[in-house]
Formats: sequence, structure tokens, C-alpha cells
Amino acid sequence: MPKNKVQFQKGLSLSDFLGKCGTGTQCREALVKLRRPDGFVCPKCGNEGHCKLSTRNLHQCNRCHHQTSITAGTIFHRTRLPLTKWFLAICLLTRRKKGIPALQLSREIGVNHDTAWKIKHELLQVMLERQRKEKLSGRIELDDAHLGGERPGKRGRGSENKIPFLAAVETRDEKPVRMQLRRVRGSASPESPAAFERVSPGAARSSPTDWAVSPAWLTQAAGRLP
Ligand SMILES: [Zn+2]
Repeated sequence: MPKNKVQFQKGLSLSDFLGKCGTGTQCREALVKLRRPDGFVCPKCGNEGHCKLSTRNLHQCNRCHHQTSITAGTIFHRTRLPLTKWFLAICLLTRRKKGIPALQLSREIGVNHDTAWKIKHELLQVMLERQRKEKLSGRIELDDAHLGGERPGKRGRGSENKIPFLAAVETRDEKPVRMQLRRVRGSASPESPAAFERVSPGAARSSPTDWAVSPAWLTQAAGRLP
């Protein structure tokens, strides 16, 4: 059986993650790289010259003196929780297919259960909103999958306990970048129309798929998770 390169690709270990994002400074630097890949540009006057106000974690424009925070406009802005805990929560939430229960998250990142629950749901909401806004493009690989099925009854694809859906994964250099799911009626068999074609990069770019996960589906699917 051929080895699935996507499934067996090397992931980021927890120790690697802590080496890269274990301190507040590292987390802020990671945010700077992501949000300002081309360097600082003042949102008010467009000037690039700036200085860093280290004590308050702000950048100040040299021309108009407008001060900006790298967390402005993100879910991290003005929260009392350190960036290291947010980043660790993201890491833990996305490492496993089924995420992480709020109680376990609270123990892993060292916050109370209510805070862990809020963090988890805020992160899931952001992920969902992004997924609903953006369409997949480039090389897309499709496959069928089933969710649930842990309850007694018929096993396998035909189980009434399972929710069949199709998964579309955007890949780059044979690595998954983004995924969208679509629930299907009946069985998500390999005969499903056009679902299992590999879309060529050119064709996909000109006609990106239009799949999105609806909140109702997520709620229903989450309710059936063991
Ligand atoms: Zn400015």
C-alpha cells in the first residue's frame, strides 16, 4: 500500500513549538512576521520609519507618531492572557483531529476551566469565520470521510451513526494548507460526482471550489462526537 505523504509528513513537535514560541517575545516576533511580512507601514500616513516602544510593546511612526500594537485587530488584543498561553492553546487545539476538551486545555495551559472554554470557542469561531470567507485554490485533493460511529450498531461506511462528508484539501508542495468539509447525503462513495478528481492548479485557480462548513453542520457534527 503506497505511503500517504500528507499523512506521514513531519509535524511540529510540542518541544519544537515551545522552542519557537515559548516566550512572549518569540510570539510577538512570529506575529510581526505574519502580519508585516514587508516591514512596518504606518496605518495612518503610510510612512515606513518607526521606532519600538519596548516597555509597552508598541511601534511608533517617526512621522505622525501614531502608535500601533502588533496584536491590534486580532483576538489577542487587550486580553489579560499572555500571548504564550494563546499560542500554546492554538498548538494544542490544532494538533489532533478532534481538538482538545476545554478541561484538558485548562490544565495544559494553566488557566481555569471557564477561561479555557472561552479561549477554545474564540479560536474555533475565528477558524470557522476564516474558512467561510476563503475559497480553496491551487491544487486541491478530495476524499471521503466519516465522523462519529462510536455508538453501537453497524460498523463501517454504512453505519447510521456516522456522518458522511467530503473533505477538500488545498495542498502546496504535497503539504496540506487548508481544508474544507461538506456534508453529503447518503454515502460519500468514490462514485460521488466529480468529488474525487484532482483539480489541476490552472483549472482550480480559475474556478476555485465553493465549499464551506455551515455552523449548523458543525454543531450537529460536534454533538455526535464521542
Ligand atoms: Zn504615521
